[in-house]
Amino acid sequence: PLPKIKGDVKFDQLVFEYEKGRPALKGVTIDVKAGQSIALVGHTGSGKSTIINLLCRFYDPVQGRVLIDGIDIRDVSIESLRSQVGIVLQDTFIFAGTIRDNIRYGRLDATDAEIVKAAQAVNAHDFIMNLPDGYDTQVEERGNVLSMGQRQLLSFARALLADPRILILDEATASIDTETELKIQEALKALLAGRTSFMIAHRLSTIRHADEIIVLDHGRIVEQGNHDAL
Ligand code: ATP
Ligand code: MG
Repeated sequence: PLPKIKGDVKFDQLVFEYEKGRPALKGVTIDVKAGQSIALVGHTGSGKSTIINLLCRFYDPVQGRVLIDGIDIRDVSIESLRSQVGIVLQDTFIFAGTIRDNIRYGRLDATDAEIVKAAQAVNAHDFIMNLPDGYDTQVEERGNVLSMGQRQLLSFARALLADPRILILDEATASIDTETELKIQEALKALLAGRTSFMIAHRLSTIRHADEIIVLDHGRIVEQGNHDAL
């Protein structure tokens, strides 16, 4: 298993194809120090999600390696990998149950106090307290009670509570009002602090938060640098 990890991540000359002869990654190398945040940007089909798929071991590379703290992730169990790598997906996953249960998902041992603390840290506490039954409010799978922005904040609270060393964020493209947008940006800062993170970023404001921006095109890195340099 992976010991308590620091969170260095290296993608070492990754080559991958979903279908023979149609490479989705053509030799991608990214060296990330623990605690850094990386924004992956590029046109549709450029390979952003594929990089994430390989980090999560949904697939293994055809060539090259993914290393965490210098260890090839193929040499550790999937469970131990998944316990260190958290994902916040574009289509925020809300299930039928209470708000509390939805935040607790992935950390079933969390206390009520820990749940509230996580919600506060990502600006979700206030809107939760305004719901009819607060943390005990029932939500549906489609999240009918919640706006897109609120769903996003809820998923941030869930990720913060799970506290993975490495965090993947596939940002939603849905439009969100300016006030919620500001809350999300603040929450994002709290969520990223002290973790290595990979963001498939659509909003410019999110990209600005990143220590390093990686621009992909047709399975290759075509530009790399911080927001000021690019
Ligand atoms: P988007 O912005 O649309 O999410 P992306 O940058 O995440 O795009 P990828 O999903 O990594 O792009 O796709 C890279 C390439 O791999 C594309 O050519 C895509 O068609 C192909 N691809 C992605 N997933 C699959 C799959 N499950 N089966 C076959 N080909 C796939
Ligand atoms: Mg994608």
